[in-house]
Amino acid sequence: MTAHEEERPYWAAGLEPVESDAVADGEAFDAVVVGAGYGGLSAALELSRQGMKVLVVEARRIGDGASSRAAGSLANVPKARLHELARSYGGETADAVYREAVLARAHTERIIADHAIGCDLRRCTRVMAAHSDRSMQRLRSEFPAMKARIPEARLLSREELGAFIGSDAYRGGMLVPDSATVNPAAYQFGLARVVRGHGAKVLQDTRMTGLKPVADRVEVELEAFGKVTAAHVVLATNAETASDTPLSAQLLRSIAAVPAFCVVTEKLPPERIAGIIKGAQIFGDTRKVLNYMALSPCGTRLVYSARAGFSEGSTADKARRIVAAFERRFPETRGVAMEFFWSGRFAITADLIPHTGNDDRVHWMIGCCGTGITMSTYLGHRIARRILGADDAETVFRLPLPPMPSWQRRPALLGAAIRLHRVYDRYMN
Ligand SMILES: Cc1cc2nc3c(=O)[nH]c(=O)nc-3n(C[C@H](O)[C@H](O)[C@H](O)COP(=O)(O)OP(=O)(O)OC[C@H]3O[C@@H](n4cnc5c(N)ncnc54)[C@H](O)[C@@H]3O)c2cc1C
Repeated sequence: MTAHEEERPYWAAGLEPVESDAVADGEAFDAVVVGAGYGGLSAALELSRQGMKVLVVEARRIGDGASSRAAGSLANVPKARLHELARSYGGETADAVYREAVLARAHTERIIADHAIGCDLRRCTRVMAAHSDRSMQRLRSEFPAMKARIPEARLLSREELGAFIGSDAYRGGMLVPDSATVNPAAYQFGLARVVRGHGAKVLQDTRMTGLKPVADRVEVELEAFGKVTAAHVVLATNAETASDTPLSAQLLRSIAAVPAFCVVTEKLPPERIAGIIKGAQIFGDTRKVLNYMALSPCGTRLVYSARAGFSEGSTADKARRIVAAFERRFPETRGVAMEFFWSGRFAITADLIPHTGNDDRVHWMIGCCGTGITMSTYLGHRIARRILGADDAETVFRLPLPPMPSWQRRPALLGAAIRLHRVYDRYMN
């Protein structure tokens, strides 16, 4: 295996950087959006489309955050298990969460189509493989509820699974024929261009460092720049939320920023790919420390994604560990070289669903739990509809945001938690 020690992102290669706009110190906006990931850009798109004067402020460059580092799967199922949600919030709310996750994907696909964003959107088949007998039992017991939301889903026996993936390490699984992938960076860059095309301004390399209510507006402090004012502010800072304002500090206490890694392999001949990914172009398993594999948009490479601990070794070491894990389960991947790899962070909440809310004129969304391509796009739009006073702004994700236990927010302990999850996956689940 050949490996470069420096991170080598794959998705943004060859994409033209998004330009920044000129903004005057003290300029007044209808809305200032903080964070230019899918969430912030989606809010900005709807607000500017409806004629509002909008500024998007991004601390880094578009492409640096989680949005361009994702693996590319367009989720329509939340991370939270249906029965766990039902236990916490009741069956109706749990159902609504699952229903809106389906809407979130449909909404994201509509945005991509309506604005002709070239991001290799591909419909494909996904398999969720059960890594143990107990996890297969759980898939079976949750299946009727899943089928009610996603009618084309179907359960697979161990033998049937063999027609979809080149691994005999799994006990069966669930097939979701109507799945989809994108090039995440092409989607984010494209969204940013559409936002600018609707007249919104984008200011990069500029951090929001404070918010101050002034009469019926909010003063937004921008580091090394000055101030702007807005009637509404949207905080879409997700895993990169810091204690910039008292509200941000409160949001920060409700998430853990979880490290995740992606690997893209060398180009492979079709016959090799056919022995790994057969009838399903996206593979995921039921482990708490999820393993994800998909066919790249060009159809010649494999994209792996997984969590690989927090503090042990370099990103290259972790990428190698992910490759080795796939080699153990998919014999045909043995000896396949990794050409690209990178790391990123995504935000999880204590109940594993995203949340949104507002404190007067400051609206926020947080914690997309690894499903942010669709959920951030959707919640950004919901926030915009709320600001616009539209009657379709409601969402189940306005549930109260539960605090995250403090030990789960500490990076060193998060690493230990991931290791514990691995032990759980291996021996108890
Ligand atoms: C390796 C990996 C694989 C993933 N795979 C998938 C996948 O396959 N499918 C999926 O749906 N999701 C996936 N995710 C999760 C997904 O990337 C995120 O959920 C999604 O990008 C979140 O979008 P966002 O707009 O909410 O946040 P982000 O993209 O994180 O955007 C927030 C932005 O806010 C900016 N910011 C923070 N503070 C400030 C401030 N004070 N001032 C100005 N700007 C600020 C940050 O710089 C950042 O750019 C993955 C994540 C990782 C890391």
